[in-house]
Amino acid sequence: MTQDAFEDLLAANRDYAETFELGGFDGVAHAGVAMVTCMDSRIDPLRMVGLRPGDAKIFRNPGGRVTPQALEALVLGVHLLNVHRILVVPHTRCAMASATLAELRERVGESAGQDASWQSFGVVTDQKAALAEDVRSVRSHPLIPDTVAVGGFLYDVDTGLLDPVA
Ligand SMILES: [Zn+2]
Repeated sequence: MTQDAFEDLLAANRDYAETFELGGFDGVAHAGVAMVTCMDSRIDPLRMVGLRPGDAKIFRNPGGRVTPQALEALVLGVHLLNVHRILVVPHTRCAMASATLAELRERVGESAGQDASWQSFGVVTDQKAALAEDVRSVRSHPLIPDTVAVGGFLYDVDTGLLDPVA
């Protein structure tokens, strides 16, 4: 392993552990919240809704899409981890919604110096329509009961505001 690449992070982790206060925590979502959002580094999923570690289950992927794995996480969250509110949160200026599949493959291919046309990317052409569809697929999942509140929100990475969409 290239240990050097992680040195600063491991040093920071030792500092973190010195004042670690989350030990002995259980894994349930104390605020009853689960969020599906993008991997984008501009998103701070807990703080953007006033939550802290221990409060919510967070599932992230490119685009913040409700994929089969996201549904798997939500079903577990609802039945085993105290989740009763689900937010689906894509965001403005997302790479997955501003490039075509061909463009992404071309850019990755250039970076990799080899063909990337076989790589799948979940690009989105209409972000609000995709969000509505994703929210529908959570609401209509047979293992997610109607008592669970499900909302779709577009996060604005320039203002920090959540815009209710679905
Ligand atoms: Zn994104």
